[in-house]
Amino acid sequence: MKTYTRRTVLFQTALTVAYPQATAARYDVIVQGGQVVDPSQNLSAVRDIAIAGGKVARIAESIPAAEARQVIDARGMLVTPGLIDLHVHVYDGVAPLGIPADPNCIAKGVTTVVDAGSAGAHTFPGLRKYVINVVDTRVFALLNISVVGQSTLSPDNPWGELIDLRLANPKLAIKTIEQNRDVILGIKIRMTENIAGRHDLQALKLAREASDAVNLPLMVHIGGSFSTLPQILALLRKGDVITHSYRQGAGGILDDRNRVLGEVRKAVRDGVNLDIGHGAGSFSWATAEAALAQDLPPGTISSDVHQYNVAGPVLDLATTLSKFVHLGMKLEDVIARATANPARTLGFPRGLGSLREGSYGDVAIFKMTEGDFVLQDSVKQSRTVHRRLMPVATLKSGRLYGSASIPVVTL
Ligand SMILES: [Zn+2]
Repeated sequence: MKTYTRRTVLFQTALTVAYPQATAARYDVIVQGGQVVDPSQNLSAVRDIAIAGGKVARIAESIPAAEARQVIDARGMLVTPGLIDLHVHVYDGVAPLGIPADPNCIAKGVTTVVDAGSAGAHTFPGLRKYVINVVDTRVFALLNISVVGQSTLSPDNPWGELIDLRLANPKLAIKTIEQNRDVILGIKIRMTENIAGRHDLQALKLAREASDAVNLPLMVHIGGSFSTLPQILALLRKGDVITHSYRQGAGGILDDRNRVLGEVRKAVRDGVNLDIGHGAGSFSWATAEAALAQDLPPGTISSDVHQYNVAGPVLDLATTLSKFVHLGMKLEDVIARATANPARTLGFPRGLGSLREGSYGDVAIFKMTEGDFVLQDSVKQSRTVHRRLMPVATLKSGRLYGSASIPVVTL
């Protein structure tokens, strides 16, 4: 039995944080005894993780608690690299769909997110100044090809940012990206008809022009577009991302007999990444079941969490991941799609989405809760899932997040 000078218990979670007597601690923190799933190194086993100077210093079967200033007891928990959500909207207060980043991302095990097009060239400086530079969540962005970003569309104003093609401005997009290459990882365009009208392909060509000029990928939001998905896919190239891949209805990946379109398989073979982007209207249990039955898994699983789905059906990325566990994907394959896989897209800095020694000290701790949970998709269809990932605690660069939101009592 270890002895501790004091012991801190996080209520609700039964997660214990302890401070061993250590005079010359080698590590800042050890996450001890969790079931570690790290697809970047094909690891799925009980491990201790030691972090020093914000990086993973050591991962091993046993690391003495006395070597750290702080020990987190993760026995019985699932421990993964800090999750990466490739599609969120955190331009709170500017884009109508924006939500605050920290309570919805880092507080839920997601240490790194990509704001997918909430800002365009004219509104990006504010995203950087008031969100990226100040929140605890590590926020990157895809720049909307429209100068106004996603500031026009809301339930009471159903006209999107490209309804007037003159708002698509590759020159300004290129300039904004050149000034912010450390945080802008690509370009975003939404193709739905009330957003991009009947000139959607012209808008996509302008986005392509900007993307080629800065040599960064495009993320294309599909569904309900005037032009067909094969016409859209014809303009994409290796490294580009299709989001809302498992949506229902017109403009999706299935034909009218529920078979995966040949053009979609070709795009995937050519290196286009299929992203989920669950959202308020873009994930269907039926499409997911059909696609997986035809061996078309997604490349990345993202939430598209925003104002109009954060209270349901999305809630958070962990809930979207739980849906894929229910769909029959192995837990390791699901976690890969929110860690190692997104880390390989879009040109993130190296060392994200992994617990290899030298990586960012980003760790997510979950409880795999068993029971009967009714989870809805975006078209009001439900499935009862029996295992659900519940976020317990998050470390970013070795710092435990959430002392303000998780009750902590020192005994
Ligand atoms: Zn979105």
